[in-house]
Amino acid sequence: MTETKTQTETETDEEEGTDTDTALDTTIYYDDDADREYIDDKTVAVLGYGSQGHAHAQNLADSGIDVIVGLYEGSSSRDAARADGLRVETPATAADEADIVSVLVPDTVQPDVFEKIQDGLDAGDTLQFAHGFNIHYNQIQPPADVDVTMVAPKAPGHLVRRNYEAGEGTPGLVAVYQNTTGTARKEAVAYAHAIGCTRAGAIETTFREETETDLFGEQAVLCGGATALVKQGYETLVDAGYSPEMAYFECLNELKLIVDLMYEGGLSEMWNSVSDTAEYGGLTRGNQVIDESVREEMESILEGVQDGTFAREWISENQANRPSYTQLKAAEEAHEIEAVGEPLRDLFAWSDNEETNDESDVVSEPEAAADD
Ligand code: NAD
Ligand code: MG
Repeated sequence: MTETKTQTETETDEEEGTDTDTALDTTIYYDDDADREYIDDKTVAVLGYGSQGHAHAQNLADSGIDVIVGLYEGSSSRDAARADGLRVETPATAADEADIVSVLVPDTVQPDVFEKIQDGLDAGDTLQFAHGFNIHYNQIQPPADVDVTMVAPKAPGHLVRRNYEAGEGTPGLVAVYQNTTGTARKEAVAYAHAIGCTRAGAIETTFREETETDLFGEQAVLCGGATALVKQGYETLVDAGYSPEMAYFECLNELKLIVDLMYEGGLSEMWNSVSDTAEYGGLTRGNQVIDESVREEMESILEGVQDGTFAREWISENQANRPSYTQLKAAEEAHEIEAVGEPLRDLFAWSDNEETNDESDVVSEPEAAADD
């Protein structure tokens, strides 16, 4: 049986400041707080070359740090990493040669990869993560004589890379789980500097806080909560005889406009931007939809995250080759809103190109010139 009781963070820290589980005195590290001496002479093994892996590896290399990408023989990412000018070895060899091992393979395969690299971890080396799941839920038990840290950009890898190249930063998180050298935090902040996070700000957190808030957020509010709200709204309108296209626009498409306003200026900017009718209707009816019973369900979801119930379920789901996951994913893809939305999104393809197309920087110059 897989043990998933949550671990206690065991920091033997000689640095100033102690870990707390409260967010009352949040520390944010910026460029000036980083001392690159703690990473500049070190070799970093980046295991995995996916979303985070390619961004960490290239940003570190461009920051002048010696990087080895760890990938299996036969991994399709090997050619990509070599084409980007990086040295590629097996995960075991990379970890053996490195001082810092950054584990950026998918969370579900990290325990297997750890088995293969652990002999290469010497006393004083660092095992580093971008998400706390496997450490917090005890799926990886690191040796007692290595540092265990987290540097987690709060954005997908392609943005971490793009921002770095543009001279900008990506906000991130820094956490120390095990500090045997006494310099784990300084090294993690230096790593955050080298991948560009401290340009924007790296927030100090703990493995527990990062893992539990991440899981709760994606389940209750972001991925789970938002899609359920969209589907319930859509089905309510369609069941009442309104057209699926209207229901799609109202309940899914327009959500982006509302979220963009909240993202830019908080709830107030959103309320100030919609009509007074929308504001009054929303303020009086919102809590009727998301009521006290929803709050109780959220508390129960949080409890399942905190006591390891969710983690145990997800680990055994993976061990059984994901039967429920496969079924639920297929059902979601078969929802009517998906078939309704596809042709409608094509109508709006021009707006996507304007906002998210990588090449938009290139075309904006002649446009700007034409304005003169
Ligand atoms: P990913 O799925 O994009 O890429 C993982 C890479 O690992 C693959 O490209 C491949 O090179 C390698 N890989 C895949 N399967 C493998 C296997 N079975 N064995 C060995 N190697 C394998 O992963 P990601 O999204 O970059 O996630 C890496 C870590 O970063 C995770 O801990 C994740 O939680 C964390 N993270 C991700 C994001 C994000 O936006 N993607 C943001 C913050 C933190
Ligand atoms: Mg997440």
